Amino acid sequence: MRALQLVAPSTLAVVDLPLPSPGPGEVRLRVKACGICGSDLHGMDGSSGRRIPPLVMGHEASGVIDAAGEGVTAWKPGDRVTFDSTVWCGECGYCREGRVNLCDSRQVVGVACAEFRRDGAFAEYVTVPQRILHRLPDALSFEEAAFAEPVGVALHAVRRAGEVGGTTVLVVGAGLIGLLVIQALKRAGAARVIAVDLDEGRLKLACELGADEAIVSGSAPVPEVDVAMEVVGAAPTVDLAIRSVRKGGRVVLVGNLSPSVPLPLQAVVTRELDVLGTCAIAGEYPEALEAIASGAIRVRPLISASVGLEDGVGAFVKAKATGALKVLITSGS
Ligand SMILES: [Zn+2]
Ligand SMILES: [Zn+2]
Repeated sequence: MRALQLVAPSTLAVVDLPLPSPGPGEVRLRVKACGICGSDLHGMDGSSGRRIPPLVMGHEASGVIDAAGEGVTAWKPGDRVTFDSTVWCGECGYCREGRVNLCDSRQVVGVACAEFRRDGAFAEYVTVPQRILHRLPDALSFEEAAFAEPVGVALHAVRRAGEVGGTTVLVVGAGLIGLLVIQALKRAGAARVIAVDLDEGRLKLACELGADEAIVSGSAPVPEVDVAMEVVGAAPTVDLAIRSVRKGGRVVLVGNLSPSVPLPLQAVVTRELDVLGTCAIAGEYPEALEAIASGAIRVRPLISASVGLEDGVGAFVKAKATGALKVLITSGS
């Protein structure tokens, strides 16, 4: 099969690889669309230690089942599906609690690190365990379905924020996930959503997608809010998120660009803030697919380009150079 492989740090090539066969309990998908994630763009240089070549990246995918391994009964060739980026075990304490994103044996599709290696979906075919599959609503296109993963991330982050109905929420960072978080907040009933970013174009899009107010970072003071969602992961933005919430408010940390940032300790302690981390997805896939299919969360305006697998190397270069929101690698056939 053809695959876009990370052959060396920061070096991609379209290569021929053996067609993978599904093992027991696994299915093989003919990949239809797969989004380039920020973690692929940042991690492919080797800095994160989670993209050790040779590796086929890609964990935001949709496709059609083309072969089923031994013991697969609930799925058959022809089924249109997406899959959880987290390969969870289903048996550890966290999985039994439903917190599959924290699975003790957690693996991620399209990631290779010291503990595991799993080829992803920037290829004609990918194999995944049946337990992480989700069926696509009939009306949903493969391109939109490739957003189930980032939409799931946004829904999980908003779920971590607790009850947001009627609240004022600050979203720091209007990149891809930030724009999805804004939509997820409005869908959850937030009364007023304020977006902050350095990029005016992204703020304009934020307002089109439902933000009530947009502030160019540093241009005006940020009003006091009930909840702040930090979707960058850098020192100044974490600081802004923490200092913007009212006494007893909540701060949800989604971004994790920097491995560590200074914490305005007294602002957290003396005002009794709840500071929460959020990571990946814990069961929000069906909700994500429903939200996209119903139009409650719009993903089409976020597609910067759809590029065929054979042009995948250029697609990565372009995605990195232009700061595109989402570039999809697609296969028409
Ligand atoms: Zn991703
Ligand atoms: Zn587990």
